[in-house]
Amino acid sequence: MPARILDGTKIASDIRREVAAEVAAMASAGVRPGLAVVLVGNNPASEIYVRGKVKASEEVGLYSEQHTPAPNVSTGELLALIHDLNRRDEIDGILVQLPLPQQVHSKQVLMAVDPGKDVDGFHPVNVGFLSTQREGLVPCTPAGVIEILKRSGIAIAGQEAVVVGRSDIVGKPAAMLLLNANATVTVCHSKTRDLPGVCRRADILVAAIGRAGMITRDFVKPGATVIDVGMNKVTDAAEFQGLFAGNARREETFKTKGSTLVGDVHPGVADIAGALTLVPGGVGPLTIAMLMYNTVKAAKMRRGNRMPELTRA
Ligand code: NAP
Repeated sequence: MPARILDGTKIASDIRREVAAEVAAMASAGVRPGLAVVLVGNNPASEIYVRGKVKASEEVGLYSEQHTPAPNVSTGELLALIHDLNRRDEIDGILVQLPLPQQVHSKQVLMAVDPGKDVDGFHPVNVGFLSTQREGLVPCTPAGVIEILKRSGIAIAGQEAVVVGRSDIVGKPAAMLLLNANATVTVCHSKTRDLPGVCRRADILVAAIGRAGMITRDFVKPGATVIDVGMNKVTDAAEFQGLFAGNARREETFKTKGSTLVGDVHPGVADIAGALTLVPGGVGPLTIAMLMYNTVKAAKMRRGNRMPELTRA
C-alpha cells in the first residue's frame, strides 16, 4: 500500500494561522514583534529565501525589515549592524542569511547575535539550551520536522529514530529534538558503516544529507515514517530519469524548466514507507512557519512571557 503523505504545506499554514493569532493578541496589548533579516551579496537562492521570509512576516502581522549590506562588506561593518539590531527594542528576531561572502568571518557574526534574538537557533547558547532541555530558540527546520510528526499523530516516544546527516543546522538539532521527545536516536553520516542496515532499524527515518534520491527502498523498514529534509536541484537528464521516469507531471516541469527539486529520498520509497513527506510540499514550508513562531517566541521571552507550545507529544 502506498505511504500516507504528510502534508507540510497544510501543517505550515495551520502554524502560521496560530502565530498570526498570537501576533494579533500581542498587538492589542501594544507590542508588535519585529524581525530583521540581513542579506549580503547577490546569491539568487538566498534572495528567494529572504523574500519568502519577509512576505510571511507581513502575512502573520510581524514588523519586518531587511538589511542588504554591500557584497564587499567587512566583518567589522556587519558586527556593527548586528550590535545595532541587538540594541533596538522593536527588533525581536535577527536572521543573518547564510552563506555570507568569503571575506566575512561567519562564525564571529553569528556569535554576535543576541541569543535572545537568535531566531535561527544557531547560537551556542541556544544549542546548549536545546541539549539541556531548557527554554530557548530551536533551529527552524528541525523544529518543523517535529511539528510534522506530532501533528500527524506519529508517536515519537520509545521509537527507533535514525537521522542521516549531522550538520549543526539540521541533523544534530533534529537528533536532539527526537531524543528530548524520548525516541532512541542514532545519528548517521558519511563514515557510517552499513548505512542501509542502520536506516532499516528506524521507525522514524530523517534524511538530511543533500544527495538527490539517495535513500532508496532498501534503506527503509516496511511501514516506517520517512521525513525528507533534502532539497536538491537535479538538472542532469539521466539522473532525472532514474528518479522520475514515467511521472508525467515531473517530466513536464523538467522539460520546461530544465531542472526539478528533489529530496534525499527516492520516490520508490513511497511503496514501502508507512508515512512520508514529499519534496516540495514537505519540510520546506515548515522552515518559514517555525521562523515566524520563533520571532513571536523571542518577543515573548524578552518580555518575560512564555509562548504556548505548538503541540504536545
Ligand atoms: P550539510 O551541512 O552538507 O550536511 C550533510 C550531512 O549529510 C553531513 O553530516 C554528511 O556527513 C552527511 N552525508 C553526506 N553524504 C553522505 C553519505 N553518502 N552517506 C551518509 N551521510 C552523508 O547539509 P545540511 O545543511 O544539513 O542540509 C542537508 C539537506 O537538507 C540539503 O539538501 C539542504 O538543502 C536541505 N535543507 C533543507 C531545508 C528546508 O527548509 N527544507 C533547510 C536546511 C537544509 P559528514 O558530516 O560525515 O560529512
